[in-house]
Amino acid sequence: MQVEANQTGCPACGSSTLELFPVFHHMMCAYVGPEYDFTPNIAGYTCPKCCRGIVPADPACEIVGTSARCTRCRGEMVMAPECAG
Ligand SMILES: [Zn+2]
Ligand SMILES: [Zn+2]
Repeated sequence: MQVEANQTGCPACGSSTLELFPVFHHMMCAYVGPEYDFTPNIAGYTCPKCCRGIVPADPACEIVGTSARCTRCRGEMVMAPECAG
């Protein structure tokens, strides 16, 4: 499910309490997933697909969007990138 960037509530249950997470793109293996898919470790994160480590500001890992998770119904959605102009 994708919602507008200015969406403030859950489209499923109407709750206004959404947790926001950056969506990472790991360029070494092309895995794309929200922050919570990546296992935290001492240095940063571990990629769930290729099991390589990701350090803060890693050039092989970029943030490609924002994922939102509803704290009431646990529904997940991807925020649409904001339109330029
Ligand atoms: Zn909800
Ligand atoms: Zn990876």
